[in-house]
Amino acid sequence: MSDLAKCKMRLGLHCRECNRWVEILPQEWLDAGKPDVNYIEQKFKCSGCGRAASKQVRPPSDGLENANAYQGM
Ligand SMILES: [Zn+2]
Repeated sequence: MSDLAKCKMRLGLHCRECNRWVEILPQEWLDAGKPDVNYIEQKFKCSGCGRAASKQVRPPSDGLENANAYQGM
């Protein structure tokens, strides 16, 4: 998790059952005193249905192009 925090990456968790997206901010995770888990090995459980959520590593939001990067055609 600390490697994600270092690159300011975010960890998105998706529960297909609940169609719910949750985003973990690794720096906040660590600041909260949670363990520096291996996010690849670690399973995250949906608090709604208890099923394992799928994971998606996302770039930092400030690293994205702004809305003008795409225009309507
Ligand atoms: Zn769920």
